[in-house]
Amino acid sequence: MGLPQLPHALVLPYPAQGHVIPLMELSHCLVDHGFRITFVNTEFNHERVVAALSKESRTDEFNLLSVPDGLGSDEDRNDLGRLTEAFMKTMPLCLEELILKSREEGEEITCMIADDSMAWALEVAKKTGLRSAAFWPASALLLATILGIPDLISRGVIDEDGAPIKQEMFALGPGMPLMNTAHFVWNCLGDRKTQQIVFNYMLNNNRATDIAEFIICNSFREIEEPVFTNTPKILPVGPLLSGLRPSRPVGHFWSEDTTCESWLDEHPPGSVIYVAFGSFTIFDRRQFEELALGLEATGRPFLWVVRPDLTGQAGDPYPCGFRERVGGRGRMVAWSPQHKVLAHPSVGCFVSHCGWNSTMEGVRNGVLFLCWPYFGDQFLNQSYICDVWKVGLRLIADGSGIVKQQHIKSKVEELLGNGGMRARVSVLKEKAHGNISKGGSSLENLNAFVHAMKREKA
Ligand code: UDP
Repeated sequence: MGLPQLPHALVLPYPAQGHVIPLMELSHCLVDHGFRITFVNTEFNHERVVAALSKESRTDEFNLLSVPDGLGSDEDRNDLGRLTEAFMKTMPLCLEELILKSREEGEEITCMIADDSMAWALEVAKKTGLRSAAFWPASALLLATILGIPDLISRGVIDEDGAPIKQEMFALGPGMPLMNTAHFVWNCLGDRKTQQIVFNYMLNNNRATDIAEFIICNSFREIEEPVFTNTPKILPVGPLLSGLRPSRPVGHFWSEDTTCESWLDEHPPGSVIYVAFGSFTIFDRRQFEELALGLEATGRPFLWVVRPDLTGQAGDPYPCGFRERVGGRGRMVAWSPQHKVLAHPSVGCFVSHCGWNSTMEGVRNGVLFLCWPYFGDQFLNQSYICDVWKVGLRLIADGSGIVKQQHIKSKVEELLGNGGMRARVSVLKEKAHGNISKGGSSLENLNAFVHAMKREKA
């Protein structure tokens, strides 16, 4: 009889920032339960993650590895159709080889946790005899919608190619928020050809998801109760919180500008407007300027994440004289330590694109939202925030398609003056923390999942 094996998980995110970060957080939870982690990024993203690691990051329990995504170094990775086709040609075999090599080297990988957007990898886990689970980094509602594609076709909501039969507001099930059929996530990513590739890719992943012993998701029961009741195979384990632990790799593609933490310290509780639109959103130059003027018009302190590629154009994007006029009241950074920012008492509200990670991070910190969705599930998350949980307000473009400065100013005032919303978001915050505390439902799900992944495969 050999020595008992240490549990060793291969963790595979979809190659995008909003997937790498929560998968890394889940990995931290696994490390806390005695797992060793082999975290597999694409080579392109691996280089960015390693370059952005802080000097203090300890990676002892983490083996950060990479496999090629099949694209050349200067090809456009925002072309999701091409990216998907390319990585499907290279990654399955690379993963298999990696698993077999781990056996030869006595560092045997014992289970696989695949992002459900990479569920095809569960076939590799099956072939190589690994335990496996799927992790979903967005809302359970979005996953239930994707898993329910065959049902949407038979209900006549979409055709066989995923195109909506008509544009309408529709609810997936009783008690669930309305979604616009024009915003189905598979129809939001690029041109029609790309949409088709993505749709077929999702159908393929849906079939592979059946292999997973667990489907876990970064959400918690109370915020999506009807979905969890209707789709009991999706188990909430959130909100994942490990991003706040020191010295652990966080999987960012950009280096965090930590100087904004001391800037936040200088401001009274609840006074700062935090503005961030995730890793993907691009702003039209005119809209960018209008937002700048809107923040200026609030007269309040603001911390604004302006990624180097946010406007998609070179050069200084700010309106003439803006920096001088706002002075120290406005702080712009290229990438913030968002987990810490949202946990900081001086932050009063979050102007957000409503990506799911940002949504969960805001909720778990009891921060109010001004919603500015850009595409895909961000509209769904906005409906949750504004219509279901009622902890935020929508920003609305005028007839010319621009969200105007005076509108931004007045929505900030309306939001910060709304005691009811503040009370509701505090309750959500408590529920979020209750879920991951002793006896909490998310924690129990996480423990059951961890326990199963630790068992040797029969
Ligand atoms: N994020 C960050 N610093 C920033 C902006 C974003 O750390 O300046 C993180 C944020 O905390 C979240 C992730 O990047 O974990 C973005 O994911 P989300 O789902 O909100 O949006 P996406 O980038 O997928 O559109």
